[in-house]
Amino acid sequence: MEISFHGAAREVGRSAIVIENREKILLDYGLKLNREEEPEYPLKVDPNHVFISHSHLDHIGAVPFLAKHGYVGNFYATDLTIDLMRVMLEDSAKIAKMEGYNIRYSRKDVRETLNRGISAPYNKTLSFKNFSATFVDAGHIPGSAGVVIETGGKRIFYTGDLRVADTRLVNGMKEFPQADALVIESTYAERNHPDREEEEKRFLDAVRTTMENGGVALIPAFALGRSQEMLLILEDLGYPVYVDGMAREATGIIRNYRSYLRDGKRLDKVCSNVGFVKDNRQREQIIEEPCAIVTTAGFVQAGPSVFYIRRLCLRKNSSVLVPGFQVEGSPGRQLLDHKTYNLDGETVRVGLHVDRFDFSAHGDRKELLHTINKVGPEKVFVVHGDNCEKFAAELKEMGFEAFAPEIGNKFPL
Ligand SMILES: [Zn+2]
Repeated sequence: MEISFHGAAREVGRSAIVIENREKILLDYGLKLNREEEPEYPLKVDPNHVFISHSHLDHIGAVPFLAKHGYVGNFYATDLTIDLMRVMLEDSAKIAKMEGYNIRYSRKDVRETLNRGISAPYNKTLSFKNFSATFVDAGHIPGSAGVVIETGGKRIFYTGDLRVADTRLVNGMKEFPQADALVIESTYAERNHPDREEEEKRFLDAVRTTMENGGVALIPAFALGRSQEMLLILEDLGYPVYVDGMAREATGIIRNYRSYLRDGKRLDKVCSNVGFVKDNRQREQIIEEPCAIVTTAGFVQAGPSVFYIRRLCLRKNSSVLVPGFQVEGSPGRQLLDHKTYNLDGETVRVGLHVDRFDFSAHGDRKELLHTINKVGPEKVFVVHGDNCEKFAAELKEMGFEAFAPEIGNKFPL
């Protein structure tokens, strides 16, 4: 029996892990999104079974590629993840077409893939001929799961993306299944998050200052999880709050799955006070008055984020408040690092106030170490991070048999 790594190895993106014991069990099959380039794919695999941890593109983006290459089996995920996959995959096919790069699968492949989704509830063991699989709540975004695979007398726990601490939107991870081997994400292995309450206060102060100056606060956010979290934080702002882009559709879907939310009623109440933006005419209108706008794309590289930043970037009374990590080379990163924006081929110095906040949906160093200690594995495989080798070396010093696999590496279990 062995485990092999086909992506998310010493990098963030294109998650793809295979556990092989007579049959190949594939955990996630994502894309690595790069600015202005074709996304990177995980290595090619021909699985017998597929399990999906959650609906972010770096975990699902390559799933339709399996159908294209003749995979006719099902995939398992929570019902909410399957529903969100439709929005995410159709959107990625659409964006690829618009941007003129080849996404290597068609909308037909997406449709065929989605017909093969089987919903797996949390904490219910699914039995197969050579193995069993159990999904547990990973606390990352609504519907996100870690997967426990039991086969050949061993238990392997794959965390997907995880958060232990509660956020406003979802409860953190509460179950830590004992396992012989643990495959753990390490996005924030290098540091701890700031105190959440203080970060919310700092954020709301920045939004209110913008409102008092008569400006617009632009909050570019990812559609799944982050956008809804921001709407909850803005609950009592006292000024109009809008949601735009793919975040609008994702919010609608997530509201239908209350059991995955910490307080579904509260999200409903918040949404009843939020304006859902429909078109460019409405966009032009709302930016004439003080308001906060939560919109995709999160890296300010596409969608309504671009519409807004083009109009707001020279306004001194407005702000762009970035609620999380910005990938290298993205317009969001450029705004943060250089306070500039490329407007119609010209790099302009922006007038608006730029600030960054940490509302991450990933566990920090202390949460990752807590998870590892609770699971108590013999072997730890560190994936999905920019510093996997360093974290694995630190775990070794703590007495764990830890590895930072490279792409294509195989290990016996
Ligand atoms: Zn994720």
